[in-house]
Amino acid sequence: MEVRGWKLERPANIQSPTSNIQFKGYTMKTIRSMVLVSSDPVSLERGAQQVYNELLKTIEAHGLSDEINVMLVGELGRHDALPLVVVYPEAVVYGPVKPENVAYLVEEHLYKGRIATALLAARRELTGRIAWLNARKGTLPAEQRIVLERAGVIDPESVEDAIAHDGYAALGKALTEMQPQDVIAVLEKSGLQGRGGAGFPAGLKWKFVRGAPGDKKYVICNADESEPGTFKDRLVLEGDPHVIIEALAIAAYAVGADEGYIYIRGEYELAKQRVQQAIAQAHELGLLGRNIFGSNFNFELHVHTGAGAYICGEETALIESIEGKRGEPRSRPPYPTTHGLWGKPTLVNNVETLANVPAVLRNGAEWYRQFGTPKSPGTKVYTILGNVNVTGVIEVPMGITLREVIAIYAKGMKPGSTFKLAQTGGSSGSVIPASLQDTPMDFESFGKAGVSLGSGALLICDEETCVVDLARVLLTFFKNESCGKCTPCRIGTHRAFDLLTKISEGQGQKGDIEQLVALADTLVAMSNCGLGQSAAVPIRDILKHFRAEVDAHIALKVCPAGVCPMHVEEAVLA
Ligand code: SF4
Repeated sequence: MEVRGWKLERPANIQSPTSNIQFKGYTMKTIRSMVLVSSDPVSLERGAQQVYNELLKTIEAHGLSDEINVMLVGELGRHDALPLVVVYPEAVVYGPVKPENVAYLVEEHLYKGRIATALLAARRELTGRIAWLNARKGTLPAEQRIVLERAGVIDPESVEDAIAHDGYAALGKALTEMQPQDVIAVLEKSGLQGRGGAGFPAGLKWKFVRGAPGDKKYVICNADESEPGTFKDRLVLEGDPHVIIEALAIAAYAVGADEGYIYIRGEYELAKQRVQQAIAQAHELGLLGRNIFGSNFNFELHVHTGAGAYICGEETALIESIEGKRGEPRSRPPYPTTHGLWGKPTLVNNVETLANVPAVLRNGAEWYRQFGTPKSPGTKVYTILGNVNVTGVIEVPMGITLREVIAIYAKGMKPGSTFKLAQTGGSSGSVIPASLQDTPMDFESFGKAGVSLGSGALLICDEETCVVDLARVLLTFFKNESCGKCTPCRIGTHRAFDLLTKISEGQGQKGDIEQLVALADTLVAMSNCGLGQSAAVPIRDILKHFRAEVDAHIALKVCPAGVCPMHVEEAVLA
């Protein structure tokens, strides 16, 4: 097989899906219809595999196997009707589809050519042209898919399908046309910032590792996605594992590494399987291993799974974990860029950051900079949850506002509910009040407003959300996940949780707020890592934006949202 002039060995166990037309060096089969079945964990739990099997069987029984392709793909973007079945080219979305519905669907749509109306996904916006855009390019005009470009479009278990959709083209370009410094220069020019939350310039980080002294270097993909409500990295790993392998190989070439790790959250079983399979396929085609694309570049990639500790998402704890030690953050400096895995210079990037890299190299820095804002170029993947009409995942240019996300993509607040706040970035993001709804969501604007973008989870809350209760729930998470290495975090998170619990139960006293403020200040100033510092964020945010509501709990023994378990009448009478 040839890919852009490079001969690759075809593995015996990977069959070409086609036989009629040539496409980018591949022989592709001409087909009448393409049927995609969502295969994210929720869909699989609800029988997506059985639906897929039933589709194959029924299509064969109708003698249509030669003209219809059925594929299990990853996430298809919406969560309210899983498992979804999307039939192209008509782009009709059916869901939820059960195995017993398949005979009707095949008979009506694929055999008789009529819409199987009884199975149409309930929401009108899931059908027709919008569905096509949702699965292939983006839902609405503002959406732009770079990170998720192939997720839900290609067969994630086929390296050939990935290659047919530009997979490994950027690696080939880097290895055959560019010097390592050129790769870093393009990345720097693109302005890509780390998408883990801090927004550190990716090119600069790569440059630091390249410039660090030492013959042995490592690259690591941080796929230990553990922020509550965040599942965007999982969608990339499950829907397009090859993009991460390709990006890590490019990163290794650029920084001078020959070995890398993908550290996957232990609970992401499907993602792990697909990544491991993708690595094996890439190896068989010579896209990993020795002399990749006929160059002198060698690269080996390993998968390491976490054991459920949230703190291992912190890069130095992650490195400790790979080294077989207890997952505790190191004191910094020195930083991993000079003293990382086994003391060697190490590049650690998260999934979303890396998933941008091949597209940037293929299309160039200028192309990338056309999306987003001048200081925060590119896109951001968000997971939308909470009291809105449509939850799910979107990828939109940096700089979109919360109001736009809620109105356009989430289809508004649920009937009868009003927006009160959004909690960004899982547990470690900020509490965003309604007054910041129109602040562009980019690193610069959010930084100026004193809030953080976090990992990309957008938990949209309505008036029935109590800010004291919200902070208490978040502190529950932090106290349970604190690794215990340093006292301010180990003890401070418990003390803050106790105070918030006391306030939420109507036992708050004068002086409690001052104690909370002092605790938050100590957590920020004295904690060894971001977990302890993040634990202060919800405390500070609710006091800054919702002080009156907290005061009401303490002074009036009233929970304005009606959530906290207080005995208002008794308290008022007392
Ligand atoms: Fe561990 Fe918390 Fe200290 Fe971080 S801040 S090192 S999580 S105890």
